[in-house]
Amino acid sequence: MRVEYAIIYSILSIILTVCTVSAMRMRQTKAMGGTVAFFVCALLFPVLGNLIIISTSNKYVAEVGYYIYFLGMDVMIFSLLRLTFHYCRITWHNKPLKYAVYLLFCLDAVQYALNPYLRQAFDTEPLIVENETYYKLLPYLGQLYHRILCYGVFVVIVGIYLVKTIKAVRIYKERYYVIFFSLLAGGIWESFYIFSGTPIDRSIISFVVCGILVYYFCLYYRPMRLLDSMLANMTSELPEALYFFDTNGFCIWANKPGIRLAGISDEDYSLAESKLLKLFADLDFSKNEWSENKTLKIGKETRYYVLEKHAIPYSDKKDAGSFLSIRDNTEEQKTLQKEMYNATHDGLTNLYTKDYFLKKTEELLRSDDEKHYVAVYANVSNFKLINDIFGTGFGDYCLKVIAEKIRETAPEGCTYGRMVGDTFGMCIPADCFDDAELETALGHFKVNDGKLEHTVLIHMGVYFIPDKNIDVSVMFDRARMAVNTIKNDYQIFVAYYDDAMRNQVLWDQNISSHLGEAITEKQIIPYLQPIVDTDGKPVGAEALVRWIHPQLGFLSPAKFVPVFERNGMIAEVDKYMWRCACEILAKWKEEGLNLFVSINISPKDFYFMDVVSVIISYADKYNIDRSRLRIEITESVMMDDNRYRMRIMNDFREAGFIVEIDDFGSGYSSLNMLKDMPVDIIKIDMGFLNRSQVNDRAQKILHNIINMNSDLGIVSLTEGVETDEQYRMLLDMGCRLFQGYHFAKPMPVAEFEDWVKN
Ligand code: C2E
Ligand code: CA
Ligand code: CA
Repeated sequence: MRVEYAIIYSILSIILTVCTVSAMRMRQTKAMGGTVAFFVCALLFPVLGNLIIISTSNKYVAEVGYYIYFLGMDVMIFSLLRLTFHYCRITWHNKPLKYAVYLLFCLDAVQYALNPYLRQAFDTEPLIVENETYYKLLPYLGQLYHRILCYGVFVVIVGIYLVKTIKAVRIYKERYYVIFFSLLAGGIWESFYIFSGTPIDRSIISFVVCGILVYYFCLYYRPMRLLDSMLANMTSELPEALYFFDTNGFCIWANKPGIRLAGISDEDYSLAESKLLKLFADLDFSKNEWSENKTLKIGKETRYYVLEKHAIPYSDKKDAGSFLSIRDNTEEQKTLQKEMYNATHDGLTNLYTKDYFLKKTEELLRSDDEKHYVAVYANVSNFKLINDIFGTGFGDYCLKVIAEKIRETAPEGCTYGRMVGDTFGMCIPADCFDDAELETALGHFKVNDGKLEHTVLIHMGVYFIPDKNIDVSVMFDRARMAVNTIKNDYQIFVAYYDDAMRNQVLWDQNISSHLGEAITEKQIIPYLQPIVDTDGKPVGAEALVRWIHPQLGFLSPAKFVPVFERNGMIAEVDKYMWRCACEILAKWKEEGLNLFVSINISPKDFYFMDVVSVIISYADKYNIDRSRLRIEITESVMMDDNRYRMRIMNDFREAGFIVEIDDFGSGYSSLNMLKDMPVDIIKIDMGFLNRSQVNDRAQKILHNIINMNSDLGIVSLTEGVETDEQYRMLLDMGCRLFQGYHFAKPMPVAEFEDWVKN
């Protein structure tokens, strides 16, 4: 028996040593590594003690074994207490109690130290079993103290595990009850040993088993069931419906939203696949990696879902199964649709926005190669006036009504949208297009908002699309060009884009792209047309622009000035001409030629620069006498913003320039305005009074203008004088300055200088 138990205890010692070393190694990686190592190591001493006790027939050696056993027991119980606190996450709140417990263990150690002298704890006596001598324990008072201490603490420990086992959630119980039962078994077995009086403490085996369990539970045990249910609960909290499939493709689990969506009960996961197939047709459950967007009609409502299936990898080559997630993204879809709608629809009229309309039109044109289409550009006539007179509220109301009209009028297979402001676009299949119908429906109609009523006129430009490859925006540009030809005509509502317009556009593009080089290469040059006095003697000249084009030859300003006035490039031409005029004056100043030069200012120039300061800067740069530079401003300039323009004229005069009103009588000049106009000279164009035969009425008007001018102290200059007869008549009327073919045509500068000298 001695040998068997010696072997058993030796094996247990080895196991404990291995556990201790391994737990020590895990100190860095596991939170409980150190605590467990301490406990398992402490267990080693009672085992060694017992190994010594049963192996020897010598009283002293046996007693050493008993000391190791009992002291080891103290350390073991102490370390078990520490471990229990750590394992169950208990902290000592009562510090004095903690130190009292430590002190009790110290006292026990001290009394064992005194036992060889006092024999108050235990003694031993020989016992013969099967012819072998063992030393049996004779416990005294000190031993009783030891047992009460160890049992007391042990009972507390077992109690802690019991309470934990009871209190823990079901899945957590396992963590505690295994240790609880093994401790209980060890305790009972130990008690049995104490009362049986046998020399061999077999209960130590159960403590070792308990130690191994603790070692395993603290360091290796991963509560899979716990993890399972944690994950299950967690995934059930997710908004997505989740379904897990095994390698055979059977659904083995679904979370709560999944159960709800498929309409299955908690346990019939296997039905999930067929139920889902009924809900969302065409799902391929045999494949693992896919994602699809699906919709479901639930009552009146449409709901949107994103379905994704993925494999769950197990090893490099094998999968553990797959899962399907179904996410309801209805809200996202709805906001997306709303955003899309807002981005593509005009807030006021709910028609397509310009960009989206052009895009939709392009799609329409591409959809059918055979079909021909018409682009219509509709413009509300005088919309600015409607806003000004009736207020923007009524203006907006008009636009809504117009949009409604367009919706009603638009034939099938047609696109329409709001371009900008008061303009709309439509693309209509040519075979449905009827201009008379369009005119009746949209040309003019009454808008009444209950308080105000106004007849809205809509002008429409029509472009028959000859080639669908033309940029869609160009098509509507052309339709718009057609509408622009209507302007203020109250009879015509529909106009067509034609080749003349197209050629005009091409011409505009062509010459505009060459303006820069034309200026630098001096293709653009000033011509001078003499201005003479009552004696027919030249007193100055008007600078008129000419373009000697390398390919197109001589270009009169009528060919390009209006083009550049439309696109604003006129400012470049004029600045260049003003510089040339200053250059000429500077040269004449040196040569002692006492003549002036008149320069033209386009109404558009005012939009692009501070005309007065630009001209002053040129005059200063060339150091010319400012009164020799005359400024010609057309009377139409005065119409736009006359107070501002008056100020400009004033600024010119105050700076020392002479200001002329050009083309007087051609536009809207009101005689009333004349009295406040800060001008020196009025230039009357004979052309407007019928150049060839100046009739009676015209003569009277001319005469009156000239008279009035002289009353106001303004000098009259007549241009377009072609005959001697006209010249004499104007002389009689009191006109002081003259310009016209009768004296000379505009000519290059050098030629002009020769002309003056002769
Ligand atoms: P405008 O300022 O009224 O210039 C007078 C125009 O009448 C010139 O035409 C001139 O050649 C023409 N003319 C002069 N005498 C007679 C005549 O006896 N009979 C007829 N039938 N015509 C006569 P041009 O040079 O072709 O200029 C046309 C218009 O182009 C100018 O009218 C002016 O508005 C504009 N223009 C010319 N040069 C410039 C310039 O440098 N800048 C700007 N902004 N406009 C210019
Ligand atoms: Ca002029
Ligand atoms: Ca003129």
